[in-house]
Amino acid sequence: MMYKGSCHCGKVAFQVEGELNGAMECNCSICSRKGALMWFVPRDAMQLLTPEEDLGTYTFNKHLIKHRFCKTCGIHPFGEGTDPKGNRMAAVNIRCLEGIDLGSVPVQHFDGRSM
Ligand SMILES: [Zn+2]
Repeated sequence: MMYKGSCHCGKVAFQVEGELNGAMECNCSICSRKGALMWFVPRDAMQLLTPEEDLGTYTFNKHLIKHRFCKTCGIHPFGEGTDPKGNRMAAVNIRCLEGIDLGSVPVQHFDGRSM
């Protein structure tokens, strides 16, 4: 299934293909502040529909994950990184997807704070 997502102002829009059968909520220092519900997909399954330069990048700690955000409205629609095997991955914030029933997506809790 193809999903469309965007930030609040629309300067960042993307589409992502896959089966949304769960999301992850993490309690680490950044996720708890963002309140993001993340869905992990191969980065190639996600396509940015707006110019790359409208996205800001925030990294911290080991700088392994690129937290991408809209430079205009500040919403964080996704992050980018690599899995342990070196595959490029995206963590899509499903709160930014259109036409989904957030309450119907099973959420797993991840103890990122303890990592
Ligand atoms: Zn925006």
